Amino acid sequence: MSTSDYKSDALKAKDKLQEVSPTMCLAKWNQTSLHLPTGLTNSCYHPPLHEIDADQVKSNPAALHNTAEKLDQRSKMLKGERPGGCSYCWKLEDTGEMSDRHYRSGEPWAMQDFEQIRKNPMSTSWTPRYVEVNFNNACNFKCSYCSPQFSTTWAKEVDRYGEYPTTPPHNAPEHFQGRRRPIPNREENPYVTAFWKWWPTLYKNLKHFRMTGGEPMMDVNTYKVFQYIIDNPKDDLHLNVTSNMCPPDKKLKEKYFNMAQEICMQEKVEHMMQFVSVDAFGKRAEYIRDGLDFTYMMDNVEEFLDRIPGRNSITFICTYNNLSITSMDKLLEKILELRTKYSKTYQRVWFDVPLLRQPAWQQITMLPESYQSIHEDNIKYMQANSGESNGLHIFKDFEIQKMQRNLAYWRENADASTQNKKNFYAFFNEHDRRRLTRFLNTFPEMEEFWKECMNA
Ligand code: SF4
Repeated sequence: MSTSDYKSDALKAKDKLQEVSPTMCLAKWNQTSLHLPTGLTNSCYHPPLHEIDADQVKSNPAALHNTAEKLDQRSKMLKGERPGGCSYCWKLEDTGEMSDRHYRSGEPWAMQDFEQIRKNPMSTSWTPRYVEVNFNNACNFKCSYCSPQFSTTWAKEVDRYGEYPTTPPHNAPEHFQGRRRPIPNREENPYVTAFWKWWPTLYKNLKHFRMTGGEPMMDVNTYKVFQYIIDNPKDDLHLNVTSNMCPPDKKLKEKYFNMAQEICMQEKVEHMMQFVSVDAFGKRAEYIRDGLDFTYMMDNVEEFLDRIPGRNSITFICTYNNLSITSMDKLLEKILELRTKYSKTYQRVWFDVPLLRQPAWQQITMLPESYQSIHEDNIKYMQANSGESNGLHIFKDFEIQKMQRNLAYWRENADASTQNKKNFYAFFNEHDRRRLTRFLNTFPEMEEFWKECMNA
């Protein structure tokens, strides 16, 4: 879909939603994120996560999505009230802009059910069409901005060494106890049980299904989903998986690639999008995402593109943080190289640069102004390699705009806070001690900033 179609669909949705109420959002019905290790959910990813009722899902597995809290939010929307969790959209709308409420509701997977939702808005068994699920927090990485909630390797580290000495303390093991404790894979998990009970019904309606983690290659549920798709092809399904592309065991990679190959090459789905998380280039990327072997990851990306030549694409997800800036140029060059090599008839290599917001000390807004010119040079490089007449081997306008939006946010929210600088040093100094890394060996170009943080 082009950017202009996206916008015109959102404008149409704005009028349509207004027929019901000025705060109606179809994502509240048709989109869900399910965090099954902790039994939490939200609709789109903006509202805070809230608890799923473990007892209720035993008799009604659709209550994984249709929680009491979501029903309350829907009822508020029908009455024209603004549920508090959706403040991201209300703030934007108050400035006169269109929000994700319009954009998401305008997407075909949401709008196709407008009449049905209108007829039966308070159903407790509504089946969504856009589903993201995290089955398990098993992961072989401990990325700097992640936590024990999403990674067993992070959990092991804080069990051994305790919290990080930031203010307030970061990733303290006690924070992940009780209701916040992810249920380990070996234990009975009522949310995963309910998911599989719901799955045959859910699957019939699905348009977009995304698996995250943890690391999906390490999770048995990933292969169960793949096998189900192989046995029950669905030619309108967009299957998405987010991986670190560095499995700890080569046999897992073989199994994953073989099944993905069968799904794509035997046309079992409309399209498979393989998301690959990487935030910088080479050893700098390895520092940010502890556990990453950059060369192995890139080799696996190329193997995926080579071995499975159709019905799929790769998207690099670059969680744009203050350690991404100084090697972004090399990552951009690599993306162009891959586009030239693999995108012959359609675009097979995408990338996105969502801004990291937490932890605060890793935001780009912390960096001195001089770093903005590095980011500007990267935008210039993208502009010099753009233009639809150059086919698929270019940067798209919306990718350039996203980098420009990141710069605008950076300028508006530049943050010279001493506390964040102290925390940056406290975190990475402890990171170096525990993980036997050396910040200045990896980022010698950031020495001045490092010292500024050390002396803050
Ligand atoms: S109103 Fe906005 S924040 Fe709320 S569910 Fe819709 S898109 Fe998400």
